[in-house]
Amino acid sequence: MNIHMFTNGPLSKEVSQILKKNISTTTSIEISEAIILNNPDLEAAELIVVISDNPCVSFCKKISDYSYKEKKIFVPIIIDQPNVIIGPIWRSAEDACYHCYIDRILQHSPVSQVLKEVWQFYDHNLQTFSTGYHPSEPSFLASWLLGNLSNCFSDVRGQVIQLNLVTREPISSQVIGVHGCPRCGLGREEKTRGYIHIQEELFN
Ligand SMILES: [Zn+2]
Repeated sequence: MNIHMFTNGPLSKEVSQILKKNISTTTSIEISEAIILNNPDLEAAELIVVISDNPCVSFCKKISDYSYKEKKIFVPIIIDQPNVIIGPIWRSAEDACYHCYIDRILQHSPVSQVLKEVWQFYDHNLQTFSTGYHPSEPSFLASWLLGNLSNCFSDVRGQVIQLNLVTREPISSQVIGVHGCPRCGLGREEKTRGYIHIQEELFN
């Protein structure tokens, strides 16, 4: 499988080096140097991984759009010590997309405005503010990727997985697409939601 990795930060870069040693068809580029359009390695890729030591929400949204358009598997991996957030893992329109994942976080977070501002800061400052990492962490993350590559991520599609780098414990959840999303979910407009019809029948 052809894999193209966008990396940002020392831990992310080390993970990409391990993947390159194990899978010769892996290419990588730093996010700051990334050219999304006219990138032959990206065009040839079947799987796109964005792995970053910091949040990079806007960049992931761009790659999510590209993956949707070109029908490529997309795996975002954001390191947020001591956790790593992997996903949502997108293989087709049956899986929730990255846009809906971000919308759901903001919908449920008690500090959504703070999150928005933090993400905006990192969007404008893509250089790494790395806190360092334990030497075992790159191989742990690369092993997770290699293990799931063997079955094309079919066991984890649509999921968001939080891996704790200290305890090595995983927590996973399924993202539900937002109504009206053109990339995932039922593809229905909000006004066609069932309860509105019930409301009209009951109160009109
Ligand atoms: Zn969506």
